[in-house]
Amino acid sequence: MRFDVITLFPELFGPFLSSGVTRRAFESKQVEVVLWNLRDHGEGKYRRVDDRPFGGGPGMVMMAEPLSACLDQAVAARGGQAPPVVLFSPAGDVLGHSAVQGWASGEGAVLICGRYEGLDQRFVDARVTHQVSLGDFVLSGGEIAAMALLDAVARLQPGVLADPASHAQDSFNPELDGLLDCPHYTRPEHWRDQPVPDVLMSGHHAQVERWRRDQRLRITAQHRPELIDAARAAGRLDATDEKSLLKKL
Ligand code: SAM
Repeated sequence: MRFDVITLFPELFGPFLSSGVTRRAFESKQVEVVLWNLRDHGEGKYRRVDDRPFGGGPGMVMMAEPLSACLDQAVAARGGQAPPVVLFSPAGDVLGHSAVQGWASGEGAVLICGRYEGLDQRFVDARVTHQVSLGDFVLSGGEIAAMALLDAVARLQPGVLADPASHAQDSFNPELDGLLDCPHYTRPEHWRDQPVPDVLMSGHHAQVERWRRDQRLRITAQHRPELIDAARAAGRLDATDEKSLLKKL
Protein backbone atom coordinates (compact mmCIF):
# COMPACT_ATOMS: atom_id res chain seq x y z
CA MET A 1 0.00 0.00 0.00
CA ARG A 2 1.14 3.53 -0.61
CA PHE A 3 0.52 6.74 1.32
CA ASP A 4 1.42 10.09 -0.23
CA VAL A 5 1.74 12.80 2.41
CA ILE A 6 1.30 16.46 1.49
CA THR A 7 2.98 18.64 4.10
CA LEU A 8 4.85 21.89 4.64
CA PHE A 9 7.18 20.05 7.02
CA PRO A 10 8.43 16.82 5.38
CA GLU A 11 11.48 16.87 7.67
CA LEU A 12 9.24 15.96 10.62
CA PHE A 13 8.72 12.50 9.12
CA GLY A 14 12.39 11.42 8.90
CA PRO A 15 12.90 10.16 12.47
CA PHE A 16 9.38 8.74 12.57
CA LEU A 17 9.87 6.64 9.42
CA SER A 18 13.27 5.32 10.53
CA SER A 19 12.58 4.38 14.17
CA GLY A 20 10.92 1.66 16.19
CA VAL A 21 9.07 -1.50 15.22
CA THR A 22 7.40 0.09 12.21
CA ARG A 23 10.72 1.12 10.60
CA ARG A 24 11.03 -2.07 8.57
CA ALA A 25 7.50 -1.73 7.21
CA PHE A 26 8.33 1.74 5.93
CA GLU A 27 11.88 0.98 4.75
CA SER A 28 10.83 -2.20 2.92
CA LYS A 29 7.90 -0.27 1.40
CA GLN A 30 5.44 -2.79 2.79
CA VAL A 31 3.85 0.52 3.74
CA GLU A 32 5.30 2.95 1.23
CA VAL A 33 5.30 6.59 2.31
CA VAL A 34 6.05 9.31 -0.25
CA LEU A 35 6.44 12.86 1.04
CA TRP A 36 5.39 15.89 -1.00
CA ASN A 37 6.51 19.35 0.04
CA LEU A 38 3.62 21.72 -0.54
CA ARG A 39 6.12 24.60 -0.65
CA ASP A 40 7.33 23.28 -4.06
CA HIS A 41 3.93 24.35 -5.42
CA GLY A 42 3.88 27.74 -3.71
CA GLU A 43 3.33 30.94 -5.64
CA GLY A 44 5.91 33.57 -6.55
CA LYS A 45 9.44 34.20 -5.42
CA TYR A 46 8.63 33.25 -1.81
CA ARG A 47 6.65 30.13 -2.78
CA ARG A 48 3.65 31.35 -0.92
CA VAL A 49 1.06 28.74 0.09
CA ASP A 50 -1.19 30.79 2.38
CA ASP A 51 -3.02 34.11 2.45
CA ARG A 52 -5.23 36.21 4.71
CA PRO A 53 -8.84 35.07 5.25
CA PHE A 54 -11.61 36.79 3.30
CA GLY A 55 -13.93 38.49 5.78
CA GLY A 56 -11.04 39.32 8.08
CA GLY A 57 -10.00 37.64 11.28
CA PRO A 58 -6.79 36.19 12.64
CA GLY A 59 -4.40 33.75 11.02
CA MET A 60 -3.76 32.58 7.50
CA VAL A 61 -5.54 30.13 5.21
CA MET A 62 -3.86 27.56 2.94
CA MET A 63 -4.57 28.49 -0.68
CA ALA A 64 -6.45 26.10 -2.93
CA GLU A 65 -4.19 26.24 -5.99
CA PRO A 66 -0.88 25.09 -4.45
CA LEU A 67 -2.77 22.30 -2.68
CA SER A 68 -4.49 21.28 -5.88
CA ALA A 69 -1.26 21.28 -7.91
CA CYS A 70 0.55 19.24 -5.25
CA LEU A 71 -2.33 16.77 -5.04
CA ASP A 72 -2.38 16.41 -8.84
CA GLN A 73 1.31 15.56 -8.81
CA ALA A 74 0.90 13.00 -6.02
CA VAL A 75 -2.08 11.36 -7.70
CA ALA A 76 -0.31 11.21 -11.08
CA ALA A 77 2.77 9.63 -9.46
CA ARG A 78 0.64 6.84 -7.99
CA GLY A 79 -0.85 5.87 -11.36
CA GLY A 80 -3.99 3.76 -11.37
CA GLN A 81 -7.30 4.63 -9.80
CA ALA A 82 -8.07 7.87 -7.97
CA PRO A 83 -6.98 7.34 -4.35
CA PRO A 84 -8.87 8.40 -1.23
CA VAL A 85 -7.82 11.93 -0.25
CA VAL A 86 -7.68 12.34 3.51
CA LEU A 87 -7.59 15.70 5.23
CA PHE A 88 -6.63 15.75 8.91
CA SER A 89 -9.01 18.12 10.63
CA PRO A 90 -10.77 18.62 13.97
CA ALA A 91 -13.97 18.44 11.91
CA GLY A 92 -13.23 14.87 10.78
CA ASP A 93 -14.40 11.51 12.07
CA VAL A 94 -12.41 10.65 15.17
CA LEU A 95 -9.92 7.93 14.28
CA GLY A 96 -10.72 4.58 15.89
CA HIS A 97 -9.64 0.96 15.63
CA SER A 98 -12.11 -0.08 12.94
CA ALA A 99 -11.15 2.84 10.67
CA VAL A 100 -7.47 1.98 11.17
CA GLN A 101 -8.22 -1.64 10.21
CA GLY A 102 -9.93 -0.33 7.07
CA TRP A 103 -6.92 1.77 6.07
CA ALA A 104 -4.57 -1.11 6.99
CA SER A 105 -6.25 -3.43 4.50
CA GLY A 106 -6.64 -0.86 1.72
CA GLU A 107 -4.45 0.43 -1.09
CA GLY A 108 -3.39 3.56 0.79
CA ALA A 109 -4.35 7.21 0.30
CA VAL A 110 -3.12 10.74 -0.11
CA LEU A 111 -2.86 12.37 3.33
CA ILE A 112 -3.08 16.16 3.59
CA CYS A 113 -1.60 17.88 6.63
CA GLY A 114 -3.20 21.23 7.29
CA ARG A 115 -1.50 24.21 8.96
CA TYR A 116 -2.52 27.73 9.99
CA GLU A 117 -6.29 28.24 10.28
CA GLY A 118 -6.87 25.42 7.83
CA LEU A 119 -7.51 25.03 4.08
CA ASP A 120 -9.57 27.09 1.63
CA GLN A 121 -12.94 25.31 1.84
CA ARG A 122 -13.30 25.25 -1.95
CA PHE A 123 -10.34 22.85 -2.15
CA VAL A 124 -11.83 20.70 0.63
CA ASP A 125 -15.19 20.56 -1.15
CA ALA A 126 -13.66 19.76 -4.53
CA ARG A 127 -10.88 17.31 -3.68
CA VAL A 128 -11.08 15.81 -0.18
CA THR A 129 -12.88 12.47 0.18
CA HIS A 130 -12.33 11.77 3.92
CA GLN A 131 -11.71 13.95 6.98
CA VAL A 132 -10.00 12.40 10.00
CA SER A 133 -9.59 13.85 13.48
CA LEU A 134 -7.36 12.63 16.30
CA GLY A 135 -9.80 13.92 18.91
CA ASP A 136 -11.38 16.99 20.42
CA PHE A 137 -8.31 19.19 20.66
CA VAL A 138 -6.42 21.41 18.25
CA LEU A 139 -2.97 20.53 16.92
CA SER A 140 -0.73 23.04 15.16
CA GLY A 141 -0.70 20.86 12.08
CA GLY A 142 -1.86 17.58 10.58
CA GLU A 143 1.59 15.95 10.58
CA ILE A 144 1.22 14.31 14.00
CA ALA A 145 -2.20 13.03 12.96
CA ALA A 146 -0.70 11.61 9.74
CA MET A 147 2.03 9.87 11.73
CA ALA A 148 -0.56 8.45 14.12
CA LEU A 149 -2.50 6.95 11.21
CA LEU A 150 0.63 5.63 9.49
CA ASP A 151 1.96 4.09 12.72
CA ALA A 152 -1.31 2.37 13.55
CA VAL A 153 -1.61 1.05 9.98
CA ALA A 154 2.00 -0.16 9.83
CA ARG A 155 1.86 -2.14 13.07
CA LEU A 156 -1.15 -4.08 11.76
CA GLN A 157 0.78 -5.31 8.70
CA PRO A 158 1.82 -8.99 8.75
CA GLY A 159 5.34 -9.50 10.12
CA VAL A 160 5.80 -5.99 11.50
CA LEU A 161 5.47 -6.95 15.15
CA ALA A 162 7.96 -9.63 16.20
CA ASP A 163 5.19 -11.64 17.88
CA PRO A 164 1.89 -11.65 15.96
CA ALA A 165 0.12 -12.52 19.23
CA SER A 166 0.77 -8.91 20.31
CA HIS A 167 -2.01 -7.67 18.01
CA ALA A 168 -4.39 -10.26 19.32
CA GLN A 169 -4.11 -9.08 22.92
CA ASP A 170 -4.01 -5.36 22.16
CA SER A 171 -6.82 -3.04 23.21
CA PHE A 172 -9.88 -2.71 20.95
CA ASN A 173 -9.26 -5.95 19.03
CA PRO A 174 -12.74 -7.06 17.94
CA GLU A 175 -11.45 -10.53 17.03
CA LEU A 176 -10.68 -11.02 20.72
CA ASP A 177 -13.25 -9.04 22.71
CA GLY A 178 -12.84 -5.35 21.82
CA LEU A 179 -11.86 -4.58 25.42
CA LEU A 180 -8.89 -2.66 26.84
CA ASP A 181 -5.65 -4.54 27.47
CA CYS A 182 -4.74 -5.98 30.89
CA PRO A 183 -1.85 -4.58 33.01
CA HIS A 184 1.66 -5.92 32.34
CA TYR A 185 4.58 -6.55 34.71
CA THR A 186 8.25 -7.41 34.29
CA ARG A 187 11.37 -7.79 36.47
CA PRO A 188 12.09 -7.18 39.27
CA GLU A 189 9.56 -9.30 41.12
CA HIS A 190 9.41 -6.59 43.82
CA TRP A 191 9.72 -2.95 42.78
CA ARG A 192 9.99 -0.68 45.82
CA ASP A 193 7.10 -1.86 48.00
CA GLN A 194 5.08 -3.34 45.14
CA PRO A 195 5.15 -7.06 44.31
CA VAL A 196 3.99 -8.57 41.04
CA PRO A 197 0.50 -10.17 41.42
CA ASP A 198 1.01 -13.73 42.77
CA VAL A 199 -0.95 -15.38 39.99
CA LEU A 200 1.59 -14.23 37.38
CA MET A 201 4.32 -16.04 39.29
CA SER A 202 2.25 -19.22 39.74
CA GLY A 203 3.07 -20.86 36.42
CA HIS A 204 -0.60 -21.84 36.22
CA HIS A 205 -1.49 -20.97 32.65
CA ALA A 206 -5.28 -21.20 32.97
CA GLN A 207 -5.31 -19.06 36.10
CA VAL A 208 -3.06 -16.46 34.44
CA GLU A 209 -5.42 -16.31 31.46
CA ARG A 210 -8.47 -15.94 33.72
CA TRP A 211 -6.74 -13.21 35.73
CA ARG A 212 -5.86 -11.33 32.54
CA ARG A 213 -9.39 -11.62 31.27
CA ASP A 214 -10.76 -10.35 34.60
CA GLN A 215 -8.35 -7.43 34.47
CA ARG A 216 -9.45 -6.54 30.93
CA LEU A 217 -13.04 -6.54 32.14
CA ARG A 218 -12.22 -4.48 35.24
CA ILE A 219 -10.19 -1.84 33.44
CA THR A 220 -12.67 -1.54 30.60
CA ALA A 221 -15.65 -1.28 32.97
CA GLN A 222 -13.79 1.45 34.86
CA HIS A 223 -12.52 3.52 31.95
CA ARG A 224 -14.67 2.70 28.92
CA PRO A 225 -17.95 1.10 30.05
CA GLU A 226 -19.43 1.54 26.59
CA LEU A 227 -16.94 -1.06 25.31
CA ILE A 228 -18.38 -3.58 27.80
CA ASP A 229 -21.86 -2.84 26.42
CA ALA A 230 -20.57 -3.34 22.87
CA ALA A 231 -18.83 -6.62 23.77
CA ARG A 232 -22.01 -7.83 25.45
CA ALA A 233 -24.16 -6.85 22.47
CA ALA A 234 -21.76 -8.69 20.15
CA GLY A 235 -22.01 -11.84 22.30
CA ARG A 236 -18.35 -11.64 23.35
CA LEU A 237 -18.98 -11.98 27.10
CA ASP A 238 -19.75 -15.37 28.63
CA ALA A 239 -21.33 -16.24 31.98
CA THR A 240 -17.95 -16.22 33.77
CA ASP A 241 -17.25 -12.74 32.41
CA GLU A 242 -20.61 -11.50 33.63
CA LYS A 243 -19.91 -12.96 37.10
CA SER A 244 -16.54 -11.22 37.15
CA LEU A 245 -18.17 -7.92 36.28
CA LEU A 246 -20.74 -8.34 39.04
CA LYS A 247 -17.94 -8.97 41.57
CA LYS A 248 -16.53 -5.48 40.75
CA LEU A 249 -13.08 -7.03 40.58
N1 SAM B 1 -8.87 26.51 12.81
C1 SAM B 1 -8.91 25.09 12.96
C2 SAM B 1 -10.01 24.71 13.91
O1 SAM B 1 -10.21 25.40 14.89
O2 SAM B 1 -10.65 23.66 13.70
C3 SAM B 1 -7.61 24.53 13.50
C4 SAM B 1 -6.51 24.55 12.53
S1 SAM B 1 -5.08 23.77 13.17
C5 SAM B 1 -4.25 25.06 13.97
C6 SAM B 1 -4.09 23.43 11.75
C7 SAM B 1 -4.21 22.05 11.20
O3 SAM B 1 -3.87 21.08 12.18
C8 SAM B 1 -5.57 21.63 10.72
O4 SAM B 1 -5.84 22.14 9.43
C9 SAM B 1 -5.45 20.12 10.72
O5 SAM B 1 -4.83 19.64 9.54
C10 SAM B 1 -4.55 19.87 11.90
N2 SAM B 1 -5.29 19.49 13.11
C11 SAM B 1 -5.54 20.26 14.18
N3 SAM B 1 -6.22 19.60 15.10
C12 SAM B 1 -6.43 18.36 14.62
C13 SAM B 1 -7.09 17.20 15.11
N4 SAM B 1 -7.70 17.20 16.29
N5 SAM B 1 -7.08 16.10 14.35
C14 SAM B 1 -6.49 16.08 13.14
N6 SAM B 1 -5.85 17.16 12.62
C15 SAM B 1 -5.82 18.28 13.34
